[in-house]
Amino acid sequence: MEDILKVEDLQVHFPVMKGVLFKKQVATVKAVDGVSFSVQRGETLSVVGESGCGKSTTGLALMHMLHSTSGRILFEGQDVTSFSCAQAKQFRRRVQMVYQDPYGSLNPRMKVKDIIGEPLQVHGLDKDRQAYEQRIADLLRMVGLLPDMAERYAHEFSGGQRQRIGIARALALEPSLLVCDEPVSALDVSIQAQVINIFKNLQKRLGLTYVFIAHDLAVVRHISDRIAVMYLGRVVEIAARDDLYQTPKHPYTQALLSAVLVADVDAEASKERVVLKGEIPSPLRIPSGCRFHTRCPVAMERCKTQDPGMSEHGRGHAVACHLYT
Ligand code: SF4
Ligand code: MG
Repeated sequence: MEDILKVEDLQVHFPVMKGVLFKKQVATVKAVDGVSFSVQRGETLSVVGESGCGKSTTGLALMHMLHSTSGRILFEGQDVTSFSCAQAKQFRRRVQMVYQDPYGSLNPRMKVKDIIGEPLQVHGLDKDRQAYEQRIADLLRMVGLLPDMAERYAHEFSGGQRQRIGIARALALEPSLLVCDEPVSALDVSIQAQVINIFKNLQKRLGLTYVFIAHDLAVVRHISDRIAVMYLGRVVEIAARDDLYQTPKHPYTQALLSAVLVADVDAEASKERVVLKGEIPSPLRIPSGCRFHTRCPVAMERCKTQDPGMSEHGRGHAVACHLYT
């Protein structure tokens, strides 16, 4: 299978400035600090981690919405990080984002047809009025809404319906890759499964590729082909879905997995709850050595000083932990 997206040693750092007249950089927030992964055409790679781990920042960098400090993001072989404005506009037809908050990301005073049609208008694809209206009706049907909803306002819809509208808007330009940033986190649990099913059906029908960002492992279980677990700006484990749930290797993955109550749990590690010490440290002060050592229940002496690189253990299953080196 061909890689549609390849991320190589991506860093997104933000300077912290102080001073009124003479601004001086006093620190650096290392939001994304050396992330590498690839995504094959037609698959779903989920990126999972607690808030502050850099997953959304990674998503925004993939979208060319945020400047990356270093590294490469290759979309169909072209480096997104060096795109000109014109190239970025074309890129936007191929890669779209679905946002977390269906309340905040849609203007409640806009009609649904204008929300969904906006990307088409931006790209000048609204000239043939009949084709344009037909396209909006088709998009609504694709996400399980009725075409006559086009005339209603976003505030008239429930959270789940709004997220469907957000998905329809993201699909308007027929992208091949969707970056979905916690698209179901704001929804009731009962609605989450419905929206996940819409994503799955659309993927089958349209051959879409997803980068699916989430903060826990319960949500992504039924949609992922592979999962990357992020901690403090790095990927600490990446594996095929079943490998990750059945034989999680990194102590952080084991802890995340033990925290989710999945009905059909088959992971050994999830039988015992692993409670992590403390909060995720600030990306302003990343711990030395293994960045997880301050919270790791099985940390060793060398974990404090030696940074474990990613190493592969089994096909496509890579982990950054001294327990395996
Ligand atoms: Fe824990 Fe050490 Fe592995 Fe880091 S390298 S996850 S501190 S055992
Ligand atoms: Mg986020």
